[in-house]
Amino acid sequence: LQRAAYGQRHEEARTRDGHRIEVGANLGDTAHAADAVERGAEGVGLLRTEFVFMAHSQMPDLATQIAEYGEAFDALAGRPLVARTLDVGGDKPLAYWPMPKEDNPFLGVRGIRLTLTRPEVFELQLRALLTAAKSRPVRIMFPMVKDIEEFRAGKALFDRVQAEVKAPDVQLGVMIEVPSCALLAPTLAKEVDFFSIGTNDLTQYTLAIDRGHPMLSAQSDALHPSVLQLIRMTVEAAHAEGRWVGVCGELGSDPLAIPVLVGLGVDELSVSSRSVPMVKARIRGLTLTQARELAALALRQPTAAAVREALEAV
Ligand code: PEP
Ligand code: MG
Repeated sequence: LQRAAYGQRHEEARTRDGHRIEVGANLGDTAHAADAVERGAEGVGLLRTEFVFMAHSQMPDLATQIAEYGEAFDALAGRPLVARTLDVGGDKPLAYWPMPKEDNPFLGVRGIRLTLTRPEVFELQLRALLTAAKSRPVRIMFPMVKDIEEFRAGKALFDRVQAEVKAPDVQLGVMIEVPSCALLAPTLAKEVDFFSIGTNDLTQYTLAIDRGHPMLSAQSDALHPSVLQLIRMTVEAAHAEGRWVGVCGELGSDPLAIPVLVGLGVDELSVSSRSVPMVKARIRGLTLTQARELAALALRQPTAAAVREALEAV
């Protein structure tokens, strides 16, 4: 089966009844973009741009950033790339960016909260992304957004940069990582072009379990019915406004979760490059009707363990 999956890695992933799911790759640096394409990724669903900032001892300038992002666009040869703006702060410090000491860094100044404090850094990154993309398809999303106000603040900076570099229209999205955003998805979907669900952080904030906690890792399961409910709400709200939804957290490559996510209506899965052939093969083995039944079954369970047990039994 693995060999068959690998052999078909460059073909689209459609369920047996013809429903297409896009499968992209998550990248932590641009040097691996060519490898992602080779493994069958249809694009990059999450570029974690932190690497550009963490690899340097001072803020990377425009030319450095353009060169780094440009490498990914070249390797993708016209396939779409979703770039997440800088997601540091809290537990991910940058030596050259003094940050306040916080008692609860995961609940502190991180993600878009941090970049909004330095608009010149935010704008420089947006300028670099748009310049590197040239006319190739780029989509940009903001991390750790909690409501429309943060999205609007980011978009205002984006609009200024876009006008300045005369870039063509770009889809602007938010990551759904904070439960607040899933609850408010109907409002967000009116203004945001797409959602990408970061199940790693969404699980952390929904279950109130530190995602790296050594004693609680067994309980930190993204297949928890509460997380699935938030995904369901997000997808319904997005589709009501004609927006697309991806999943870029690790849940997207969990073999038991793939049918559930398809059944919940997710349009795209972005996973580590090495998982792309398996994820596509798994989608091809399903029908949308089956997937919807599995999603409904999962949503009825009281705990993550019960979800896993119920899905395994089928
Ligand atoms: C997530 O939170 O699920 C996610 C994809 O972002 P990161 O793992 O980089 O925090
Ligand atoms: Mg995250």
